[in-house]
Amino acid sequence: MSRLDSNGPVVVIGAGPAGTSMAVYLAQMGYDVTVHESRPDMRRTDISAGRSINLALANRGIAVLEDLGAAARVDAITIPMRGRMVHVDGETNLQPYGQRPSEVIQSVSRVGLNSILLDVAEATGHVEVNFESRCRSVDLEARTMVVTDADDVPHTIGFGTIIGTDGSASAVRDAMESSGASSVRIDPLGHGYKELTIPPADDGSFRLDPNALHIWPRGEFMAIALANPNGDFTATLFMPAVGGEHSFESVVGPDSALDFFAGEFPELVGLIPDLTDQWTSNPVGNLATVRTVGWSHEDAAVLVGDAAHAIVPFHGQGMNAAMESCKVLAAHLRSSSSVEEAFLAFESVRRPDTDAIADMAIDNYVEMRASVTDPSYLLRRSLALELERRWPERVSPRYSMVMFTTMGYAEARQRARRLGGILDELTGGAASLEDVDFTRAEAMVSEIDLLPTGVRGIR
Ligand SMILES: Cc1cc2nc3c(=O)[nH]c(=O)nc-3n(C[C@H](O)[C@H](O)[C@H](O)COP(=O)(O)OP(=O)(O)OC[C@H]3O[C@@H](n4cnc5c(N)ncnc54)[C@H](O)[C@@H]3O)c2cc1C
Repeated sequence: MSRLDSNGPVVVIGAGPAGTSMAVYLAQMGYDVTVHESRPDMRRTDISAGRSINLALANRGIAVLEDLGAAARVDAITIPMRGRMVHVDGETNLQPYGQRPSEVIQSVSRVGLNSILLDVAEATGHVEVNFESRCRSVDLEARTMVVTDADDVPHTIGFGTIIGTDGSASAVRDAMESSGASSVRIDPLGHGYKELTIPPADDGSFRLDPNALHIWPRGEFMAIALANPNGDFTATLFMPAVGGEHSFESVVGPDSALDFFAGEFPELVGLIPDLTDQWTSNPVGNLATVRTVGWSHEDAAVLVGDAAHAIVPFHGQGMNAAMESCKVLAAHLRSSSSVEEAFLAFESVRRPDTDAIADMAIDNYVEMRASVTDPSYLLRRSLALELERRWPERVSPRYSMVMFTTMGYAEARQRARRLGGILDELTGGAASLEDVDFTRAEAMVSEIDLLPTGVRGIR
């Protein structure tokens, strides 16, 4: 097996969840790694987390944290969420995510998680992180890159292999696209987001149940909220960027924001006392899916995480997928006979999965903002859980396969489609589970392949 460092040092661009995870996997394989991160050290500087303040962490991310020896530390800063708390007309309804005690997702602070990963990377003794070091350009043929330091002074640095974990606006990917190694498609969702903080109550307690992901579904748009350990919640409004009465183009100033919230989310007006100040000072973020074909250039460069496959956030999987991609690449580096072969095998195995989660993430937006209040969706959801209860060796609902297992996303999507067809047939004309013909259900389910064995989360 040729090594990543046979032509010079191994550099990683970006110290987000993918860059730090990849650096630790490489250190475990005996490499010395230098990471260049454009932002200051978040453990020492009070910088914004960049994108979302907190995230949903699920089994795929946790499996990586276990490999890296970071799971126990991260577990100490998470808040389990057992389902969606749906808020409609002042009433709430908890829709559990799964039916086993372990089937919960975890709310975790982006800065908290990333800080632990930085500590773990540095503790290997094989990872050096250069903060405020921004990659500006990469010459893949010469194996050199230009980085600028905190004073904006450029430095040319040589490398043997460069690993682009620099997120959805990746500079490494730009260089690969310019050289013809990659082709990139960016599909804007057309919806943006704005984060708002729901502070703790006067006695420091949570103002909502912390052990649920709160959703205020409103058809074309929605708000959600996830708890943070200090007693507050990060609420996020997702809404069309332009057009119509309900868009970031129409709801602009503080007065229109207050009117909008009073009409659509009166509960949030009560929960966020400084709503108009936050509305004015917090930015609107954009959302897009990035699909890249060509994740590597010979044995000189490879893209991992959002740099290769950024997705919209509605399945809570972007970071989980980014970290899982590091695990997949590390496995190929261990088993392949050359670095180039490992890079090519990584993309051919992984891209069908990241394409699948990209599609499922978009589908889940519709589910969260609209379907969760639709009686036919609720019947299908209860039936999927009932089929899983009766035939757990063959049936797992889509949400469970994505969040609670490490089954390939492409297989999860294919199984979900099959199950969707069965649910359509069984619920046609049914008003409740009592109307479902379970003898027919058994015959249909017996045609589904057994769930794969040896996949975490499947029992
Ligand atoms: C609103 C929102 C909510 C989300 N919620 C979830 C969720 O609940 N669960 C989930 O799993 N995922 C979620 N995601 C997705 C998740 O944020 C990303 O998938 C994840 O951060 C990708 O990790 P990464 O390391 O590939 O990229 P990033 O996290 O973007 O990290 C890239 C790093 O590279 C650095 N960098 C960038 N350019 C350069 C450069 N030129 N030189 C040097 N350094 C550079 C950046 O500063 C950054 O530190 C959400 C995303 C958004 C926008």
